[in-house]
Amino acid sequence: MFHVKQTDFDVVVIGGGHAGVEAAHAASRIGARTALVTLTLDGIGVMSCNPAIGGLGKGHLVREIDALDGVMARAADQAGIQFRLLNRRKGPAVQGPRAQADRKLYKKAVQLAVSQAKGITVIVGEVTDLLTDRNRVTGIRTAQGDDLTAAAVVLTTGTFLRGVIHIGDIRREGGRWGDKPSVRLAERLDDFGLSRGRLKTGTPPRLDGRTIDWSRVGSQPGDETPTMFSFMSSGPVARQISCGITHTNTKTHDIIRENLERSAMYGGMIDGVGPRYCPSIEDKIVRFADKESHQVFLEPEGLDDDTIYPNGISTSLPEAVQHKYVRSIVGLENVEILQPGYAIEYDYIDPQSLDLCLAVKDVSGLYLAGQINGTTGYEEAGAQGLVAGLNAGRAALGQDPVTFSRSSSYIGVLIDDLVTRGVNEPYRMFTSRAEYRLSLRADNADQRLTPLGIEIGCVGQDRESVFLSKQEVLERTKTKLRETQFTPKLLRDNGFSVKEDGKKRSMLDLLAFPDITFSDLYRLDASLKGVPADIQEQVGRDALYFTYIERQQREIAAVSRDENHVIPDGFDYPGLAGLSNELTEKLVKIQPRSLGHASRIEGMTPAALTLILAGLRRMQRKKSA
Ligand code: FAD
Repeated sequence: MFHVKQTDFDVVVIGGGHAGVEAAHAASRIGARTALVTLTLDGIGVMSCNPAIGGLGKGHLVREIDALDGVMARAADQAGIQFRLLNRRKGPAVQGPRAQADRKLYKKAVQLAVSQAKGITVIVGEVTDLLTDRNRVTGIRTAQGDDLTAAAVVLTTGTFLRGVIHIGDIRREGGRWGDKPSVRLAERLDDFGLSRGRLKTGTPPRLDGRTIDWSRVGSQPGDETPTMFSFMSSGPVARQISCGITHTNTKTHDIIRENLERSAMYGGMIDGVGPRYCPSIEDKIVRFADKESHQVFLEPEGLDDDTIYPNGISTSLPEAVQHKYVRSIVGLENVEILQPGYAIEYDYIDPQSLDLCLAVKDVSGLYLAGQINGTTGYEEAGAQGLVAGLNAGRAALGQDPVTFSRSSSYIGVLIDDLVTRGVNEPYRMFTSRAEYRLSLRADNADQRLTPLGIEIGCVGQDRESVFLSKQEVLERTKTKLRETQFTPKLLRDNGFSVKEDGKKRSMLDLLAFPDITFSDLYRLDASLKGVPADIQEQVGRDALYFTYIERQQREIAAVSRDENHVIPDGFDYPGLAGLSNELTEKLVKIQPRSLGHASRIEGMTPAALTLILAGLRRMQRKKSA
């Protein structure tokens, strides 16, 4: 890698952020000769904002990326300095693995994965132009004037397109702190006539940990038994640390309130829409006016780094105000700010211009992934990168597209939400977005997706054998738990409180009781102690949710019937009498691929679906006549 001699590739990926890395790695895993063109070598794998991976909904995405042999989970496990399973007290379906990462270790792990991948050539440069032949993208041109040709190009430029940084009333162009924006590429994209908008996001000031009075703040350790991201990892590698916790107070809120007009976001300096679910401290003070305090996590950015990321107080207030309000917080009275908080405003492309492969519908050979599609977060970016990279690679190699459904993965939910509904604020993943979340658990991501990965050749030999042996143990354990039936008397004699209803029960049946855990079964069969912990956990969860999952499977089957009603390209929606103008416009724009897809378009009604179905039937009758 790291040479520019070769100029013809199967796939060129623009951008070495979280989407770009997964895209390039995925394309190379399936055998596509891939170039990763990015602004700086050292910028590959940079975490632009919080030094953490995972969380609610996001942790599921990381597990799914891993199940397909992607990079993010293993890098997070290498770099993790604190692991916590969020929502531990709630049901397993909504628990989210999260890790605090050492920024440098994370970047190092990602860069190592890229350098070790066969078939990725990394090229440093600014892409300023897309080469085209009629309506097809055929390659890229860099600012230095180098041309690269490719069958498919994946664009993953994050917050860089016409990026503008705001700190109070100071405004300067930038893709993120310390980086130039991509303006020429943004202008080139305008030529394609894609619908685009402006979004914004913000980051907190970075603090000097040596100036924090740690004796005055609380401490939050990681979990005693860390939950790793990758199905291939067995435990943390780096030294584990605790985070600090402190709180804003009424004085902090007064300072912010008095200066609201000077905030870039509140003073009318920014037009873009911000992330509702990741509000700035200004937003919190306004939206939750009756709250006297907000939690602030003091997260170390690395083991050999004194920089602290104060999670919860992102801002675009002037620097002097940031100093004042930060110093009003307990433990931070004498704190020094190393880098001010700022907001960034950038262009995004309406993801409704994309199909389920993340290919631009009206321009062949061009794929978009990551924050450019209106999402926020490393995990959402990585998941899209994986999908775009796989499909770009497959298209270049003359293979059929691969798509992900809502019923098999959070990746499917993410892509379907984006291309069907578009975004009107930065999109982030939540477990509540997945209608089949009891089946789409973080613990079973490998069973849902690794078989597909093996089939399409994006999973390496090591993972394949680990997966197949795990499957074997899982099946063997389930068979064992199923095979013996116990009478109520015998169960009661062994301390299980089951009804005296004469009904025999297997050990698998027992696991469906919420108060019976796998280890309780040792009383019936001591050899079960030898079953690996992850298998015990998974069998327990599958049994607990069995009835619900069965019901969901029936719902999924019904939806699949709708998915099978394929709507051909160019279907004549305007010709359907009775369809409202608004829906007609949306359908023409989105071009849903099936009745199921159409049913998820915002504002869709059962009556309109019936009209489309009737139209499809008429079309079929005409064809067969
Ligand atoms: P990026 O990680 O931004 O990567 C883009 C890559 O493209 C970079 O490597 C860059 O060098 C390259 N590039 C750009 N233009 C060109 C070009 N013309 N030629 C070649 N290469 C190019 N997420 C959250 O979840 N919560 C938050 O609170 C949050 N706050 C944020 C605050 C700020 C200030 C920023 C900048 C980001 C924030 N994020 C947040 C978002 C998070 O950083 C992104 O979602 C994530 O990094 C997006 O990944 P990406 O791969 O799409 O883009």
